[in-house]
Amino acid sequence: AKSDPDSSHRLYDPSIKDSRAERRALEGALKSAHENREFELFYQPILDLATNRMWGCEALVRWKHPAKGMISPLQFIPTAEESGLIGPIGDWILEEACSTAMTWDLPLSVAVNLSPVQFKRRDVFASVKKALDMSGMPAHRLVLEVTESVKLTEEATATLKRLKGLGVSISLDDFGTGYASMSYLSSFPFDKIKIDQSFVRGMMESPDSRAIIKATIGLANDLRMSTTAEGVETQEQLNALRSAGASQAQGYFIAKPMPREAIAAFIADSQKA
Ligand code: C2E
Ligand code: CA
Ligand code: CA
Ligand code: CA
Repeated sequence: AKSDPDSSHRLYDPSIKDSRAERRALEGALKSAHENREFELFYQPILDLATNRMWGCEALVRWKHPAKGMISPLQFIPTAEESGLIGPIGDWILEEACSTAMTWDLPLSVAVNLSPVQFKRRDVFASVKKALDMSGMPAHRLVLEVTESVKLTEEATATLKRLKGLGVSISLDDFGTGYASMSYLSSFPFDKIKIDQSFVRGMMESPDSRAIIKATIGLANDLRMSTTAEGVETQEQLNALRSAGASQAQGYFIAKPMPREAIAAFIADSQKA
């Protein structure tokens, strides 16, 4: 815009031009990756702390690039969002997660991450309904994870309520990392809060992190929501979270995210324990 004093300078900034070209190249690559079915879901176990049994899994997308190998979602989700490709890719993620969960030995829950763009540019309700119908998975097994970056407009709130009406659970991801966690929490009846791994990481050394975790669990209990602690990497953290009253735990100490075949075996094994 002309009112932006920096715009002319920016237009001729070669580094920006490069990154634009790069982004366009990544967009093209993502589009063909989707067509060539190069995306893959990994599943990370979530432990129920009351029973010490598996509660479910979180589905986490990866890009299995034919030349570059496994690419992290942190490297391509932002571009998928900017380009709108997260729409069709997100639909595939929902369908793949639900149909995979239907192959498990136990009727565990499966949590799927939703991007804000899926709310803005896509009929998320229709996408979720289609994934449930196609897979035959009961709605109560599906958990949708949203972050504060999903703007809770009247329309988005209505969509989330319709999804809850189907029996789907809604989870508030990365709790405590945004700038409006409290007001966000009060604006929708979430079923679950995911305590961000940044608090869990420091919890044994930092009394402040422990206080935040304790307060979050208390708040969730008062609001009749359950809690999942993320990023649990040690036995000490797991013990402390259990005594603090967290409902579930997820992290490398329990298991890393794993491919479809491995999670099926992991779930089968968990029954023997
Ligand atoms: P997130 O939803 O907060 O997912 C948790 C991330 O923490 C995952 O990274 C997981 O592999 C990692 N993690 C789990 N346990 C531990 C632990 O003990 N220690 C450490 N250091 N990390 C742990 P991942 O798979 O790289 O995903 C990164 C982010 O990308 C996710 O954060 C989520 O925001 C996004 N993402 C992943 N899959 C999807 C997807 O299917 N759709 C959308 N829209 N976003 C996704
Ligand atoms: Ca998540
Ligand atoms: Ca998270
Ligand atoms: Ca995160």
